[in-house]
Amino acid sequence: MKDIKQVLSSNNIKPTYQRLKILKYLRNSRVHPTAYRIYQDLVKDMPTMSKTTVYNTLKALADKNIVVPISITGNEVRYESCGCSHHHFLCEKCHSVIDLEVVCPNLARREIKGNIIKELHGYFKGICARCAQKIKSGKKVSGSEWASGKEVKAGH
Ligand SMILES: [Zn+2]
Ligand SMILES: [Zn+2]
Repeated sequence: MKDIKQVLSSNNIKPTYQRLKILKYLRNSRVHPTAYRIYQDLVKDMPTMSKTTVYNTLKALADKNIVVPISITGNEVRYESCGCSHHHFLCEKCHSVIDLEVVCPNLARREIKGNIIKELHGYFKGICARCAQKIKSGKKVSGSEWASGKEVKAGH
């Protein structure tokens, strides 16, 4: 893993303590958190951190393609720092956003009929394997897992 500090410096973003923490958090997260979720988790250790700092940092990082905003849910932006292209799956029950490693011939395309492609997002929606399993065994499934901030483990 590239040194986080160097990633920021080489993109002309001053590597302040809070910015480093935000990027480090995203690097270690598998849940594609919202800006608010990142703020909630980091403010516990850094009471001086403001919501504005988190939002501004994410915007600066997204402008440099260091983090990727994902708008799969339609009403919020989720973030990840993984540089590799992959598609996403949204569970309508627990609201987890999971990386989908599918073979997609379009992921590598940089141009279609003269249109230059800079980003490609593939969104799949449905019921995740965990929730499907719970439903099968008759357990109640709700969106509380995501809302309560419990880490949902998903393979990367
Ligand atoms: Zn689910
Ligand atoms: Zn992802």
